[in-house]
Amino acid sequence: MNKLIIKDICKTYPNGVKALDNLNLELENGLFGLLGPNGAGKSSFMRTLATLQEADSGSAMLNEIDIFKTPTELRKVLGYLPQEFGVYPRITAEQLLDHMAILKGITNKKQRKEEVDYLLNKVNLYEKRKHSVKKFSGGMKQRVGIAQALIGTPKLIIVDEPTAGLDPGERNRFYNLLADVGEEVIVILSTHIVEDVKELCTKMAIMNSGKITYQGTPKNAIDELEGKVYQKIIGRKELEDYASKHSIISNKMVGGKPLIHVYSETEIGDGFEAVRPDLEDVFFSQINTNFQIV
Ligand code: ADP
Repeated sequence: MNKLIIKDICKTYPNGVKALDNLNLELENGLFGLLGPNGAGKSSFMRTLATLQEADSGSAMLNEIDIFKTPTELRKVLGYLPQEFGVYPRITAEQLLDHMAILKGITNKKQRKEEVDYLLNKVNLYEKRKHSVKKFSGGMKQRVGIAQALIGTPKLIIVDEPTAGLDPGERNRFYNLLADVGEEVIVILSTHIVEDVKELCTKMAIMNSGKITYQGTPKNAIDELEGKVYQKIIGRKELEDYASKHSIISNKMVGGKPLIHVYSETEIGDGFEAVRPDLEDVFFSQINTNFQIV
């Protein structure tokens, strides 16, 4: 069992933005969802763990490896799929993986070919191995990205916003692949898409303004809101009025009209109906402090 222990990590950028505000987390094998809106600090956190940038203070231990003190040790057991996975023009999937395997220190050519073939099969791209990655669809590129992150049997895999821009079919294929990967290693899935976490993760944290505001299972988070979420379709001009009277969690358009979810400890009447909360309610109620409208 792998263990990642993160203690008191802080980072303020030179422009004064406090991107990481005293982060503490303990993770074990499995898929861990780090959910937060854009600007929450997820990428800063992921880049810090991947040793691409330094924290101002705090520590991170992966098993016996002190990540900040011995970054080269970490890199040997890290698989990282960054938010922007750039590829060289005209390189084929096979060449790209071979190149990444060299960078990972697999110098034996035969061993490298075996590993690359295995990974191409695993991400279901073996048939397309001689094709240029540049011409791949978004989903196929992300599968190449996962294949390169798996080179050299890593212990920690970080995937940063991997499903943004994928269509529903591609997203599903990517979910299946991640679920398959996540048993023997620690996988951190950083995302602003609630569905990613809902579909895949048994453990999660919610991050907002550089802080972890919730850590636990999606189920517990939902249970805490049980019986406290109500919904109503209202007129478009009524939104402000409702916001002044109720704690609005979220507001989305349904058939051209706002459907609002509100938080209340007691029954509200006034045409509201009780709904079973889901992870989206948890997410929006966490990130809208004071339950303001998104
Ligand atoms: P997320 O990945 O959750 O969208 P980021 O880590 O990209 O969040 O950004 C967190 C905050 O830090 C944002 O306010 C962003 O503008 C700021 N930020 C990110 N990178 C830098 C940087 N290199 N210099 C200054 N500010 C940055």
